[in-house]
Amino acid sequence: MHEPDELSNAIEAAAAAIARSGHAVALVGAGLSAESGIPTFRGGEGIWTKLGEPTFDGWELFNQDPAAWWQEAISFKQEFAEFNRAIDDATPNAGHRAMADLEAMGRLAHIITQNIDNLHQRAGSRHITEIHGNRYLVRCMSCGARDRLESVRLDRLPPLCPECGGFLKNDTVMFGEPIPEDALRECYRQTALCDLFLVVGTSAVVYPAAEFPVIACRRGVPLIEINPEETPLSGLASVVIRATAGQSLPAIVERLVPGRGRR
Ligand code: NAD
Ligand code: ZN
Repeated sequence: MHEPDELSNAIEAAAAAIARSGHAVALVGAGLSAESGIPTFRGGEGIWTKLGEPTFDGWELFNQDPAAWWQEAISFKQEFAEFNRAIDDATPNAGHRAMADLEAMGRLAHIITQNIDNLHQRAGSRHITEIHGNRYLVRCMSCGARDRLESVRLDRLPPLCPECGGFLKNDTVMFGEPIPEDALRECYRQTALCDLFLVVGTSAVVYPAAEFPVIACRRGVPLIEINPEETPLSGLASVVIRATAGQSLPAIVERLVPGRGRR
C-alpha cells in the first residue's frame, strides 16, 4: 500500500490521464466485486489462495454428457454452490458505481469484464463485454444465441436452443472452453481503439484477457492499474494505484467532478 500522499498523487495522475483520453477502456477482474462480498479466486483473500485450485473438468463433462452436466448444475451439489450464493446475494459497490459514472460522464468508453456477476449492468454501465460470460444467461453451443437462464425450461435436460436446436449451456465460460467469438472480437476491437487502459482488480494471469492491456501498451497506450497487490502488469503501468477499487474509483470520479464521487 502507498503512503497517503503517494496514493493521492496516483489518484490525481489517473484522473488527469482519464481526462486527457478520448477512448478509455477498462479490463476488470474479480477484485472489483470483492467489496460486494464475492470472493476472488487469487490474491491474498482469494478462495484458491486459501483452499488450493479445484479440478477443471466442467467443459469436458459438458461435452461428454450435457444432460448430466445440467443435472449437476441444478442440484446445488456442485463445488461452487457457496460462490454462486455470494454472487446472488451481492449488490454493486462504490467501485461499480464509479465506473458507471465514468461512462455517463463520457470518460470510459467500454468495460471488458472477466466477472460473471452482472454487477456492472446493475450499477448502470452500458458498454460491457463479458469475456467469461454471465451467470444469469444461457448460450447456445451451436449458434451462440443467448437467453436469460430464468426463462429456460429445465424439465427436459439438456435444454435446447429455440433458434437452432443446439445444446444450451450456462453462459459462464469454463476452463478449457473457447471464449465466445462475438465477445473476443469486441475485446480486440476495443483494444485497437483505446488510448488509455484501466486495469482494475485482476490478477492478470488468465488469458486471453490479460493480453489486451499488453497489446495496447505495445502501441504506446498508457495503463493505469488499480489493485492492492502487484501483478504481472504492474511493471507496464504508468500509474499504479495500490488501493481497493471501491476506494480509488470514486476518488478518481471526485477529482474529475467534485461532489460526484461521494455517492
Ligand atoms: P483473480 O481472482 O485471479 O484476482 C483478483 C485480483 O483482485 C487479485 O489480483 C487481487 O489482488 C485483486 N483484488 C482483491 N481485492 C481487490 C479490491 N478490493 N480492489 C481491487 N483489486 C482487488 O480474478 P481475475 O483476474 O478476475 O480472474 C479470475 C476468473 O474467475 C475471472 O476470469 C472470472 O471469470 C472468475 N471470477 C469471477 C468473479 C465474479 O464474477 N465476481 C469472482 C471470482 C472469479
Ligand atoms: Zn442455437
